[in-house]
Order: sequence, then structure tokens, then C-alpha cells
Amino acid sequence: MTLTRTEVRELLDRHGIRPKRSLGQNFVVEPNTVRRIVELAAVGPGDRVLEIGPGVGSLTLALAEAGVAVTAVEIDDALVGVLAETTAGHDVVIVHADAMAVDWSDLLDNDQWTLVANLPYNVSVPLVCDLLDGVPAIRRMVVMVQKEVAERLVAGPGDGAYGLPSVKVAYHAVGRMVGRVPPSVFLPRPRVDSALVELVRREAPTVDADSEVLFDLVRAGFRQRRKMLRRSLASLVDEAAFAASGVAPTARAEELGLDEWAALTAAVTGES
Ligand code: SAM
Repeated sequence: MTLTRTEVRELLDRHGIRPKRSLGQNFVVEPNTVRRIVELAAVGPGDRVLEIGPGVGSLTLALAEAGVAVTAVEIDDALVGVLAETTAGHDVVIVHADAMAVDWSDLLDNDQWTLVANLPYNVSVPLVCDLLDGVPAIRRMVVMVQKEVAERLVAGPGDGAYGLPSVKVAYHAVGRMVGRVPPSVFLPRPRVDSALVELVRREAPTVDADSEVLFDLVRAGFRQRRKMLRRSLASLVDEAAFAASGVAPTARAEELGLDEWAALTAAVTGES
């Protein structure tokens, strides 16, 4: 029931579709890969799964095969037509929309959703960050992204890939890399390696801090990641606030864990 390379090629040809790089269209054409993603997602009958960017339905069909009810959000009208054909007869709701502009509270009717997706690589970071920030109905995500993006999402202080998305993940979730995927399983073949990441939403953040201020600081800090904080945060954190926070003004953004960002936030907002 999953799509092979020949079947995907035939579908694209028959519908006169040429994959668009601008929409990150690299379709999985290896049944074992989509089955592995479904296994890692550990979803089954009764589970509600959101898929963003279903494409021609490779992963969608594997999810349906596992007995899952899928809501699939696809931006490309040509692919929506193909998808309607490949998923006919399955428990799949196709939503023709830009995932960056969806009103998720309209679409997700309870708070127990899992996002399982081979995400469009061009929007994967803002999409994951926005969903973590604004869509608590999504309890868990198992997503395929470019390997470098996966590294950024799960990085910790001191890692070269550590940045704002890593802090955002740490704030909302527990993230880990759960697999690597080579370019050979896609049509067309991307120039980059891919990886699978699992993000499990926390019941509540582990730090008690004004998240808006916290992420203003993180953003400013990483804008000049190699500069000392007293320079990169000069307009936001004064000497007294550094002293109150216990964070050294000589430290750099890339060295600070979530607790330290929260301590700085508390000092700035007068809560320490
Ligand atoms: N899931 C399919 C697979 O594994 O074969 C396709 C994955 S492909 C990497 C990304 C898909 O996301 C494409 O189908 C593309 O049209 C769709 N897409 C790109 N930007 C989107 C957006 N903003 N909202 C919804 N879908 C989008």
C-alpha cells in the first residue's frame, strides 16, 4: 500500500507534475523509509496524526496502513489532486492550505495530536518553532528534516549547532535525533542528508520565566553568538541585572543553557 519509486514517477508523469524546489518537494519513494517513520512515531488505531506536506502521499499511506486517522495539510493544488487519488478510501482528511498560515485551533479538535511529517525543508525551522509556541494540541512530533536542521533542533550549549531553535525546543519539549535518512530514498534526490527528530512536549516548561522576554534575549544573544553577552545584550541587560542573574557578562550566547537564559530573564524583569 506504500508507494514505490516507479509508482511515484508514474503518478507525477500522469498528472504532468514537476517537483518544485521552491516548495521543498522531494518525495520519499522507498516504502521501508516511510514504514520506519511510522514505527518511530509509534502511532496506531485511535491516534490523531497531523501530516504537513503530504506530497503524493507516500507517508500518508503508510500512516493509513497503520490504522491512523490522518489530517494532511498540503499547499500545492496539483499535489492535492494526486493525494485525493492515492488516499481514496482511507481515513485521510486533505486540507489544501499553507501550513504557515493555518488557524490550527480550527483544525485540531482535541489536544492529543502527533505531527508526523517529512517537512518542507524551506520552512521546517519556523514551522516547528511556531507549532511549539502556539499549538499545544500537538503533543509530540516525529519529523524528517535536513540533517543540519535536526542538529540545530536538538543541540545543547557548547554544540556548534546550538541556537535559538535549540533553546525553543528545550523550553517546550524534550528533543532527540532518532534516525538518519540518505538522499537516495527521495525523488528527486536532495543534495543534503536528512534526519528524523522526535520532540515530546513537556507538560510545562522547566523554567518559570516570561517567555517573550526570554526569547528576546536569546534572539539578541545569538545574533552575535561569538560576542560576549555584555556586548550582544548591551541594550537589554545592565550590569546590575547580570550580577543578579549570576550569569557572567563575559559568557557567550552559545554557552548558556535554558536555566541561565531564564535567570537573565528574571533579572531583567525584576523577578529574581
Ligand atoms: N511527505 C511527502 C513525502 O515524504 O514524500 C512529501 C514531502 S516534501 C519534502 C514537502 C511537501 O510539503 C511537499 O509536498 C510540498 O508541496 C509541501 N509544502 C511545502 N510548503 C508547504 C506549506 N507551507 N504548507 C503545506 N505544505 C507545504
